[in-house]
Amino acid sequence: MAIQLKDLLDARVDELRKDTRGEPMPEPPSMSSGNPERCAVSLYSSAGDLVTAGDGDEAFTIQSISKAMTYAMALQEHGHEEVHRHVDVEPSGEAYHVIAVDDVSGKPDNPMVNTGALVVHSLVPGADADERFAVTLETMSRMAGRQLAMDEDVYREEMASTHRNLAIAHLLRAKDILQVDPHEVVDGYTRQCSVLVTVEDLATMAGTLAAGGVQPTTGERVFSQEVVRQVLSVMLTCGMYDDAGDWVSGVGIPAKSGVAGGILAVAPGRLGIGAWSPRLDDHGTSVRGRELVRGLAQKLELHLLDGRPATKLDWDARESVD
Ligand code: GLU
Repeated sequence: MAIQLKDLLDARVDELRKDTRGEPMPEPPSMSSGNPERCAVSLYSSAGDLVTAGDGDEAFTIQSISKAMTYAMALQEHGHEEVHRHVDVEPSGEAYHVIAVDDVSGKPDNPMVNTGALVVHSLVPGADADERFAVTLETMSRMAGRQLAMDEDVYREEMASTHRNLAIAHLLRAKDILQVDPHEVVDGYTRQCSVLVTVEDLATMAGTLAAGGVQPTTGERVFSQEVVRQVLSVMLTCGMYDDAGDWVSGVGIPAKSGVAGGILAVAPGRLGIGAWSPRLDDHGTSVRGRELVRGLAQKLELHLLDGRPATKLDWDARESVD
């Protein structure tokens, strides 16, 4: 029997609330405060339809999902060749906070691990942390179609304990991969991670990437198609860190996770997905968020390697799903 997509999402969220595997990130305290059972999902179609289930009004920090946005910004500003002089695009098979660069290339493996993301943050236009963050926030807001803001508490608390990212930034500076002050870069990067979003924001940002860089509601082109193709390629191969292979085979669409429990996933040309729930697996990915995206990818036949017939290419919120 055919059921409406909204009913399907509601039922799935209700079911997943019973799944208590994983733990929320313990630090910083203000990021993990609140009920760990919160769970939400949102879909944004290329036609501009938004469907949300669960705790869709609750905001959480974007964390590492922001790495995809700053990578796109750096590419848009400097072009592929210049950006890739500083950072490679190879899956690392490592956790997000590994303190190492590749032995052979001498560069961070990719822009989705912290080594690469810190270098990429330094390539965002702006003379200092304030300017780079202002441009980052403005670009994320254009993707989301509304003005976003930063969580001051999460930013402050994370800055007080970000020894590992400082170690990475100093390593990059010592190797001359980073050409600006390591403290400024960690500061700007931590602010970019502390931007507050809802699942609807994530779905809308994902929808902008799904639509080749044009924000579907405002019609504004935020990134070129070429930049989006590059970002989605790296999200597909590296976006889920040391879980990337399993994600590509099991889910099959580009995605990026964050340790506050958010996941942004993109079905190119079709739709954007935002999912959120704070309990994380060993890879730092939301347990329920992963299940939500995986289930939707199966139900809506989103896997990129499925070779869908052309008639399945578009989804519309008014349609029902079998
Ligand atoms: N702010 C976190 C860090 O860089 C983000 C990590 C993540 O979301 O994977 O340590």
